[in-house]
Parts: sequence; structure tokens; C-alpha cells
Amino acid sequence: MASDFKKSNFPTAAFQRRIGDDREYIESEAFDDSRFDEPSYAEDLELEAEDERLLLRKQKTKQDSDEQRLRPLSFDDYFGQERAKENLKIYIEAAKLRSEALDHVLLYGPPGLGKTTLAAIIAASLGVEMRVTSGPAIEKPGDIAAILTNLKENDVLFIDEIHRLNRQVEEVLYPAMEDFALDIMIGKGPAARSIRLDLPQFTLIGATTRAGQLSAPMRDRFGVVHRLNLYEVRDLEKILARDAEILKIDIKEAALHEIARRSRGTPRIAIRLLKRLRDFAQVRSDGCIDLAIARHALEALDVDSEGLDGTDRRLLRTMIEVYGGGPVGLDTLAAACNEDRGTIEDVYEPYLMQIGFLAKTARGRVATRLAYEHLDYPISDTLMQGSRGLFDAQFGGERSSEQVHDTGEEQA
Ligand code: ADP
Repeated sequence: MASDFKKSNFPTAAFQRRIGDDREYIESEAFDDSRFDEPSYAEDLELEAEDERLLLRKQKTKQDSDEQRLRPLSFDDYFGQERAKENLKIYIEAAKLRSEALDHVLLYGPPGLGKTTLAAIIAASLGVEMRVTSGPAIEKPGDIAAILTNLKENDVLFIDEIHRLNRQVEEVLYPAMEDFALDIMIGKGPAARSIRLDLPQFTLIGATTRAGQLSAPMRDRFGVVHRLNLYEVRDLEKILARDAEILKIDIKEAALHEIARRSRGTPRIAIRLLKRLRDFAQVRSDGCIDLAIARHALEALDVDSEGLDGTDRRLLRTMIEVYGGGPVGLDTLAAACNEDRGTIEDVYEPYLMQIGFLAKTARGRVATRLAYEHLDYPISDTLMQGSRGLFDAQFGGERSSEQVHDTGEEQA
């Protein structure tokens, strides 16, 4: 069926030409509108092509030049995440041997852990181009259709925040992912008909901080799924050493270790701290970041000895002071701290859990003894309430903590 349309030169060939490889062509005067018999369809295509240009422009302005320079281009410069790396290398090698597109890949984990970077490395290792977009930027099916028809054989399409794709766009993606085909409607009303366009084989790499929010059919269509974990200090040290060299920052090993230790296991935070410390070293010292400057600057930046920032401490203090250490429901905590629930879940909680300051129970979040010690709360009486809460949360109680705290009863 698709081949019939290709032969007729409408709409397939025109469609592909207009939003195809050469976007220059769309903008050039040589572009000939008259070959489109159906004006409404031609208008739709015009809009789709314009949308794609807008999408790509939006993405360009987002790119920070430093971030581009620091982004590793090969697996050798991508430190940590050993398991994901080793497995991916095998899948890439196998796909290359078979001259096929790599299976679709889903990468998930907190922000700043290197999902976009890893996607770019996968594309580079496959020797193909990567097109970048994000869930919220693709508003309608036409947007994704324009992007998909623009791909070349075996290309990588990277969709960041893929859990934020809307339903209609997902529907277009399903046949594209599974059969490399695009079902589109032509015309309106009773004359409307659906045609199937063949797409090149491509690899979709989806990144998300919330794998749980992906719809089940979408999740099932990824053949490779990897969770990225918070980084070990020694891996962050390697990342920082490489970045300091690229940015020509003079830094002592002890200072490097100090930044790595206080970066919440996240490369993006480590890089940000490195750059801010460079400012401090240039203004307050001779430009070299030593341990004394590092400690001074980290204190000025409100990053404490465990890498917690003001919001981490506010969350823990609220749990301890207002809710007796918990358990407290996420919504209640978010409202009490005036923070977004999603931000707490994606950004703050993973690290607090990793260092053992916060525990998740069936009935809510609980501040642990380590958190009490770190924030200098007396353990004796307050923790008694906290541990009673933890005990209740795990072993008994009819009502959830959310209900208890939300009704204002039993508040400490
Ligand atoms: P995400 O997409 O998960 O939010 P990014 O891929 O944008 O994270 O990573 C943020 C920055 O951290 C990148 O610019 C890159 O320089 C750096 N980075 C992340 N992971 C690594 C790694 N494993 N090795 C080296 N640098 C990394």
C-alpha cells in the first residue's frame, strides 16, 4: 500500500522532500508549492515543517557551550555506570555486525546523571546521527511525524523527559517503534483516509526521571532498559579531573576529592561546583583551588559536609520538627516545605536515601538516626517518636500517615 503512494508521488515523495533531509530546501525559493493539489494538506505540511524548525531552534538555545565541551564523546571518557556501559557496548557491537538499528533504549534515573550524554555516546559508537527533542516540546502528532520522517537509516532519536509525551503523540510512536511505519490521516470529514508511510529503521532512546510514569505500552516497546545510579566518589573524581583539564582549572587533589564527596553523587552538580569554586579561587586566591578554598567556597555556597543544600536540610528539619521524624506522606511534606512533590521525588530523595538520611516506608517518609545526628537533634526523646513512627509504619496501624497528618491529628 505504501509503495502505491510512493509511485503516485503524492503525498509520500512530496512529504518526505518537504520535511526530509534537506531543511534548507524548505526555506529556499526553489521550493515549489504548486505540486500540492490539496491545499489543506499542503498547509498542514507547511505547519509541520515550521514546527520542526521551531523545535530544533528551541533545543539549540538550550545548549550551554561549556556543557557541550565537557560532554564525553566516547565510552572511555564516560566514567562509572559500568554495568549499563558494558551491556550497551555489546548491544551496539551486535547491531553493527548485523547492520541493523540498535533496539530502542530507555534510560532512567535522577537528573544530571548522564542520560543525554550516554545517548550521544551510543549514537557516536553506532556511527549515526542523533536528533534531540523532549517530551513536552512535542505537542501534537504532526510534530513527531515531522521528526520521524526526517530520520535517516539507523539514526538515533533521543527524547528527553519521555514520560511527558502526550497520549496522541504516543499513539503515533507505537507503530513507528514497532514496525517503522507511520499511520497518517489525509483529508478531513468523510473523505478522510489513512495511509501508512514506511520509515527508516531507527533507534529511539528515551530518557526519564520517572520510569513509573511511563505508560505500560510505551515501556514495553523498549528492548533495552537501564537505570542510572548515583555515582561513587571515585568516579566523580575522574569526571572532575577530566573536566578541570578541559576547562584549564588548576585544582589540588584534596580539593577535587572534597567536591566529589559533596556533589550528591551527580556529575552535573560536581561540574557546577567546580565552576563556582574556580570563581572563588580566582577572586579570593591565586586561581588554584586548594582544600582551604574549596571548603570556604562550599560553605559560602551552602553545601554542607555531607553535600546537603538548604532544601535538603529544610526537608529533614520539617520531618523531624513538625512530624516527629515521620512517617509523613510525600504530598504533606511537599506542602509543608512549599516544594514541588516531583522535585522532592526526583532530585532530593534519591540522594538522602542513598546516604541513609531518609527511608521510604509504605506509610510515608521517615528521617533516620543519621539525619538526626547530622542536623544535631537530640536523639533520645525525638528519635523515640521517629522510631515509633517507623515501627508503626512497618508493622501496624490502620490508617496511613498521610491521613493522620492531613487531618491534623497526632501531629508532633
Ligand atoms: P541527564 O541527561 O541525565 O540529565 P547529562 O547527560 O546532561 O545528564 O549530564 C550532565 C553533565 O554531566 C554532562 O554535561 C556531562 O559533562 C557530565 N556527565 C554525566 N555523566 C558523566 C559521566 N559518566 N562521565 C563524564 N561526564 C559525565
